[in-house]
Amino acid sequence: MRAVRLVQVGKSLEEADIPIPEIGSSEVLIRVAAAGICHSDAHYRAGISKIDCLPLTLGHEVAGRVEEVGGNVTHLSAGDRVCVHYLVHCGSCEFCLRGLEQFCRSGQMIGKHRDGGYAEFIRVPGANAFPLPDDIPFKVGAIMMCSSATALHALNKARFKAGESIAIFGFGGLGFSALQLARAFDCGDLYVVEINPAKLASAAGLGAIAIDARSVDPVEQIRDATNGKGVDVALELIGCAKTMRQAVLCLASLGRAALVGLTAESMSIHPYTELINKEVEIIGVSDHLASELPLLIEFALSGKLRFPPELLRVVDLDAAPLNAALDAFQNSIDHVRMVIIPGRPGPA
Ligand SMILES: [Zn+2]
Ligand SMILES: [Zn+2]
Repeated sequence: MRAVRLVQVGKSLEEADIPIPEIGSSEVLIRVAAAGICHSDAHYRAGISKIDCLPLTLGHEVAGRVEEVGGNVTHLSAGDRVCVHYLVHCGSCEFCLRGLEQFCRSGQMIGKHRDGGYAEFIRVPGANAFPLPDDIPFKVGAIMMCSSATALHALNKARFKAGESIAIFGFGGLGFSALQLARAFDCGDLYVVEINPAKLASAAGLGAIAIDARSVDPVEQIRDATNGKGVDVALELIGCAKTMRQAVLCLASLGRAALVGLTAESMSIHPYTELINKEVEIIGVSDHLASELPLLIEFALSGKLRFPPELLRVVDLDAAPLNAALDAFQNSIDHVRMVIIPGRPGPA
């Protein structure tokens, strides 16, 4: 089968002809119908996130049709449409048994620790394949499995409830989903903090109260807009100590700041006046859970989570357009997502 693989860190991905994977009794073979190209893949290629075992087929946002089913897989049959949860877990350790598989002691990420979906076929445990309703296109099913799922996990970790106000710091892929999901939860006032004019405009176009952090202090702005109260929940999706601190400072009493963006910087907080006094919470968010995917799929089915067709650009399973898509992440200012559809690009 054809695959596009990372052979050497820092170099372009390469096309390869490799055997179709053989499945074990608890696995399924999926014919890939769509694979999202993710910013993380650019980091793997560049060596910013380390890949231990090369060559490796990248691609952790995958949807397709079940081609073959292992003997112990009972919930799927050949021909079923599925999307893939990218965290492969043991199912039996203390974390897996509590439904917290992102901490599984032997967890592996598809497209990072094992071959991913930049290929004609992918082998995954049956437990990682979720039925995808006919009315959700494969390409939407694929790209939902990363940033949208993580945005939903962030809202869940923040215990976000109907009617609560929210501030979203950063309006990239995560923010785009977070805004729609917050709406799906019937949020109150929704603020988006950004510095990019195009993203501010698109957030405002989607009904958010856009705050331009280049010209105003977002914390002051949010306090003014809420009569000094602050917001119930803040999501930090950028990965910057300054905006993390702002996310905490813009909270109302009993507010929750969910930190999703990654950074190596330290964040400073004055414990008494900024945390204890207001009983606010700072919550770390890592990946997402299999148990959250059915609700995500339901939101996509009901149209509450949407990826308009003009925001989805299709490329074939070829190294050149794929490498170009990874290059383009550097300067991305819109919400266009690139999706690989193996074979002739067309409707999916
Ligand atoms: Zn991703
Ligand atoms: Zn486990």
